[in-house]
Amino acid sequence: HASTKPPPTPSPLRSAKFFQANMRILVTGGAGFIGSHLVDKLMENEKNEVIVADNYFTGSKDNLKKWIGHPRFELIRHDVTEPLLIEVDQIYHLACPASPIFYKYNPVKTIKTNVIGTLNMLGLAKRVGARILLTSTSEVYGDPLIHPQDESYWGNVNPIGVRSCYDEGKRVAETLMFDYHRQHGIEIRIARIFNTYGPRMNIDDGRVVSNFIAQAIRSEPLTVQAPGTQTRSFCYVSDMVDGLIRLMEGDNTGPINIGNPGEFTMLELAETVKELINPGVEIIMVENTPDDPRQRKPDITKAKELLNWEPKIKLRDGLPLMEDDFRTRLEVPRKN
Ligand code: NAD
Ligand code: UDP
Ligand code: UDP
Repeated sequence: HASTKPPPTPSPLRSAKFFQANMRILVTGGAGFIGSHLVDKLMENEKNEVIVADNYFTGSKDNLKKWIGHPRFELIRHDVTEPLLIEVDQIYHLACPASPIFYKYNPVKTIKTNVIGTLNMLGLAKRVGARILLTSTSEVYGDPLIHPQDESYWGNVNPIGVRSCYDEGKRVAETLMFDYHRQHGIEIRIARIFNTYGPRMNIDDGRVVSNFIAQAIRSEPLTVQAPGTQTRSFCYVSDMVDGLIRLMEGDNTGPINIGNPGEFTMLELAETVKELINPGVEIIMVENTPDDPRQRKPDITKAKELLNWEPKIKLRDGLPLMEDDFRTRLEVPRKN
């Protein structure tokens, strides 16, 4: 009799998986700028459990304070250059300092983070069968010889320069991702992120948007690094997070550029910040750092077609949103 026969006993692992309604997501570098906004967005979905692994080099617990103690959230002090043994379904691998002054501070550590850190996260993805997304960078295009940059461009990168720990590090990280994909069948996603800005950026991390906004609020001169005609394209952080989640959830490995194609010279950016935040402030020209890319603008055709994604927030609308956060942290209220 079929009815008297006990149901087959599923293996403990399979039944755990079967009853596990939640998606367990690891965010490395989740205490940082982009990572903490990504965590906010992922936590909005009640089916998600989020684990952050971060060594707090450039990030801080403060960025995640609203989630500490939440039953679906866990924060681990962990350096990704060390192995990590946990069970997850998805990995957003962001851990890596993004600002030149921090990634140049200990370049050997930066390249270890990119290479050994990514290897460990791929080893983890392989062991548990998780999908893994790498936040690569527009810096893989180096000082680009084609403009705007699309994903088929192989780049113009100095392998022995002071930026190499970061840009060559990310290039190796991309190679590792594709080798694990081809050799072990790991599900990979690669985002090539272009300059991103928004609340929670480190105030003193030396990046151009955070520098100009902090300078304008403190009524200090805006420091344009020579020649000032170099260009960047700035993406507001909520658009970035939306693009990363679409990439993770979609069917394309990438690499896919995620960025805002609106292109500005650093002089134009300074003028805009001055106009919006402090019309009385001075703009001065200072010395630049070596290997500074002269122009950068994403071709986002692929993101539009494959992810149905494009940025919504224009620079002029995003800067004031960031100003509010910087004024609170710098304790300089608006005058009117
Ligand atoms: P961020 O510096 O604010 O965040 C990086 C986080 O990684 C920090 O919380 C830091 O403490 C952590 N971290 C660094 N090394 C680690 C290690 N060895 N182990 C564990 N944690 C470590 O930078 P961000 O702007 O949020 O950038 C996030 C990711 O996006 C990075 O991978 C960066 O390369 C990439 N990216 C950012 C931009 C940008 O404009 N912000 C542009 C291109 C790419
Ligand atoms: N790894 C990890 N967590 C895991 C599985 C692996 O951090 O759950 C690390 C492991 O220590 C190794 C790296 O990921 O250094 C690559 O693992 P893989 O299994 O691919 O290579 P192997 O261990 O065979 O060299
Ligand atoms: N920059 C500037 N003034 C500053 C900081 C940076 O003019 O106070 C310039 C810098 O020379 C570069 C651009 O702004 O051309 C972007 O620099 P950032 O470090 O923000 O990002 P990345 O070089 O990584 O794109």
